[in-house]
Amino acid sequence: RAKAAGGGTFRCFEPEMEAWAQLRRSRENDLREAFARGQLSLVCQPLLNSLGGGVTAFEALLRWQHPEHGAISPAEFVPLAEETGLINPIGAWVLRTACAEAATWPDHIRVAVNLSPVQFRNRDLVDTVKQALAESGLAANRLEIEITESVLLAEEAANLAALHALRDLGVRIAMDDFGTGYSSLGYLRSFPFDKIKIDRSFVSQVGVNAHCTAIVRAATGLGASLGIVTTAEGVETASQLAALQAEGCDEVQGFLFSRPVPAEEARSLIAGTIARAA
Ligand code: C2E
Ligand code: MG
Ligand code: MG
Ligand code: MG
Repeated sequence: RAKAAGGGTFRCFEPEMEAWAQLRRSRENDLREAFARGQLSLVCQPLLNSLGGGVTAFEALLRWQHPEHGAISPAEFVPLAEETGLINPIGAWVLRTACAEAATWPDHIRVAVNLSPVQFRNRDLVDTVKQALAESGLAANRLEIEITESVLLAEEAANLAALHALRDLGVRIAMDDFGTGYSSLGYLRSFPFDKIKIDRSFVSQVGVNAHCTAIVRAATGLGASLGIVTTAEGVETASQLAALQAEGCDEVQGFLFSRPVPAEEARSLIAGTIARAA
């Protein structure tokens, strides 16, 4: 039909596509400016030992406080940052900031940083990590990098080499959202992960849905036999915690314990834990 109209084949779609492209450009500019103006920040969510309850680490999570639109979720703007390449400078800032913050915490507490597959395309990634560690003085084994299996799907050889280089520095590597991809198991064979984070979609039904419980049991069993720490993400209820403890899951993270909080609050969470232990 568009063809019969003559001229531009896709004429009838043009206004919509133009509007979409414009919206995308304005969001991109917004994000670029937000980063330049310091409107991006990090919040920290604790990971706890599932039996003792002590804080073992904090995961650093990006937040964008937009002056008009309020808080924008990383689920929305990280894909935009990835498409535009902004994820590289933003990701480097996340690494520097997270390491600097972690350097103020007690030595036994780690920091977990999410890395996008796009950051692995950057040849400077390993140097960026090295620099963040050197500048902050944080010991490499206190930094944990979280990746999803998409890092290994794309440009497998180069990305595997980068992962090995990071691990050689002493940095720990965690597989995020375990169980949601096509071949989480295959990737456990190709790289010696230090941790697997069982996806919230299984955790939310653990102890309720027999299939989810079986998958969690398989993941914790696998972790135990491979010597890999297992962490359950998105723990929201006491009965989920009880089921995870019964399955031998090592660590837990979720709203039941704490929402992601600003760095100052993270410090008082640590202080509180230490006070309770004393
Ligand atoms: P993720 O790494 O899997 O992070 C876990 C997400 O689950 C976080 O969402 C966290 O706030 C949320 N969460 C934690 N506990 C609970 C719970 O009990 N219930 C529910 N419903 N949700 C919970 P958030 O902060 O919105 O981040 C979403 C995703 O954005 C992250 O998923 C990660 O993939 C990405 N992301 C966040 N920060 C960064 C970053 O600095 N760099 C990159 N590349 N990606 C990031
Ligand atoms: Mg994560
Ligand atoms: Mg996750
Ligand atoms: Mg997730």
